[in-house]
Amino acid sequence: MNEDRIEMSQRERDRLKVMAPVLSNERTATEAARLLELSVRQVRRLRRRLEAGGDAAIIHGLRGRPSDRRRDERLRRRVVAACRGTFAGLGPTMAAEKLAAIGLAVPKETLMPAASTSLKPLPTSAAVAPADQRGLVCRHCGCEHFRVIYTRPAWGGRITRRRECRNCGRRMTTWER
Ligand SMILES: [Zn+2]
Repeated sequence: MNEDRIEMSQRERDRLKVMAPVLSNERTATEAARLLELSVRQVRRLRRRLEAGGDAAIIHGLRGRPSDRRRDERLRRRVVAACRGTFAGLGPTMAAEKLAAIGLAVPKETLMPAASTSLKPLPTSAAVAPADQRGLVCRHCGCEHFRVIYTRPAWGGRITRRRECRNCGRRMTTWER
């Protein structure tokens, strides 16, 4: 018997079906969270895993098992340590370049979860983070870091901000009260 063979249960298929439109930006993480009875945070994590590892990720992830990439664990730890220390505050793209320069060559896709974990505010700091930055996640890459390009007043006493994802460079507009 080949243990590496991927066998999807019906439940996993269902989850994948719910997640597929999330990956193509046709369904929001919030909506998927409701359908899957998961938190939005869990859905976003799932999304990142799926983007990084394809269908196998959802199965390993949902079963709570380590993937067969365990042999890379040592490398991963070194990368995470570097991202939390020397390279803290850098986006995945920049961090990948810096890591390569010190002999820790990892694909940016591999780095992304480690980097975003290290760059994420601690759970408790969410309460004190500026209201306008709470929970904002790039729909394209899952990055939570943005550069504000401009801020201007909008109708209804609101404020609109044009932001650029620090990781993938895509832009989005937010409206705030
Ligand atoms: Zn992005």
